[in-house]
Amino acid sequence: TPTIGVLALQGDVREHLTALTEAGALARPVRRPGELAGVDGLVIPGGESTTMSKLAVIFGMLEPLRERVRAGLPVYGTCAGMIMLADKILDGRDDQETIGGIDMIVRRNAFGRQNESFEAAVDITGIDGGPVQGVFIRAPWVESVGEDVEVAATLPDGTIVAVRHGNLLATSFHPELTGDHRVHRLFVDMVRTAA
Ligand code: GLN
Repeated sequence: TPTIGVLALQGDVREHLTALTEAGALARPVRRPGELAGVDGLVIPGGESTTMSKLAVIFGMLEPLRERVRAGLPVYGTCAGMIMLADKILDGRDDQETIGGIDMIVRRNAFGRQNESFEAAVDITGIDGGPVQGVFIRAPWVESVGEDVEVAATLPDGTIVAVRHGNLLATSFHPELTGDHRVHRLFVDMVRTAA
């Protein structure tokens, strides 16, 4: 059974711990470098990426996270977590740091005011049994990807909302809020394969 951490600086940590447990992982919160050292994979939750980024610096986690991502740690980021995994962001705060790792440009709060929150059925590469219900909450979108990045899901208008790059996975939406754990199972499989 793989041990998968949830970065617990800010955001919807508990929902991911539950989803990971139900998807067959040993799930635990990660706040400190020592805790990060003990996990086989990591989820970065949804929340507020500017706050998460600030807390990552304060808790001395930013460099340890970057190092483990560089070393191949499987990481799944949802929403704010997707922003944290982007090599480059648009509409971020001036001093906003990301962990990076996925060669992509992500735009924060991209869906704008009118559509700040909505749901849509999303077909994801590698997930069988029909589309998942995508819950988008002040969500980012992926503006462009590098050539090694696999686009795993788009909306009907072509907007990229899920990507995979090596051991890294990111979605604009929040599968941890739906009770459908297929995306978490996909990630648990990625962690098993990487181990
Ligand atoms: N708008 C948030 C941010 O910029 C992300 C929202 C979310 O994670 N649901 O970090």
